[in-house]
Amino acid sequence: MLFYVLDSPYPVQKCEHFVETEMFRSDSVELKVLHLCPQCGGYIGGKISIPPYAAELVLWTNGFGDIAFGCGGREMLFTERFKRLFEESGLTGLSFQGKVTIEKIKCMRGVRRKNLPVMPAYYFAYVSVGNAVVNHQLSNAFFDPGGEPTCNYCRAGLIRKIGPLVIEENSWDGTDIFVPRGLSGTTIVSEAFVRWFRENQINNGRIIPTEAYLFDHTPEAFQKRLAMCENPNEDLSGDPEDNE
Ligand SMILES: [Zn+2]
Repeated sequence: MLFYVLDSPYPVQKCEHFVETEMFRSDSVELKVLHLCPQCGGYIGGKISIPPYAAELVLWTNGFGDIAFGCGGREMLFTERFKRLFEESGLTGLSFQGKVTIEKIKCMRGVRRKNLPVMPAYYFAYVSVGNAVVNHQLSNAFFDPGGEPTCNYCRAGLIRKIGPLVIEENSWDGTDIFVPRGLSGTTIVSEAFVRWFRENQINNGRIIPTEAYLFDHTPEAFQKRLAMCENPNEDLSGDPEDNE
């Protein structure tokens, strides 16, 4: 069984045929702890929003993504098209909670509001949490000092660097899109999800095989990303245009 990471294209690479859309939850949205570890009682994956849901969209290209990424991979926005195709597919792992109020659209990197198509309706959904686990040892995990996991079930810890990823296959219940235990900010998808994603030309998101995935939050990697974002030759700076 192969697993893949589903990630936002920005800012690691710019994909010409992709529509890059992200979202931020509005300040008015209420947060709750929804997933508690059955062994240590700690929470798995942090607090998440509860409806009614309101958000701000951030557009990095002239168009609206079928997915708007945000909030640590545990909650995302999806277009009506995505929702319908997903529900028809028989895939599992998303629980749709209803339509979202988009309070603001932020246009970045030269995107102009007058060039945008009509905004599709967006739906808020939770991504399934905790039904598979990342093997930290086989995934070369390094933790912040004092941030090592103490519970073998939720394996919550402060990860500084990890990858390539190894998911313990016998811990997986067959869910097609999920946030694993032991790496709570990352969305993992199944082979069936990737086939469906490509067949239906879902227009936003990078699919990375887990054996090629590297999560690096060391200070050196941070400096490197910062330099990338500040270098105009990388075509990542642009002129942010805030269209209220
Ligand atoms: Zn635990």
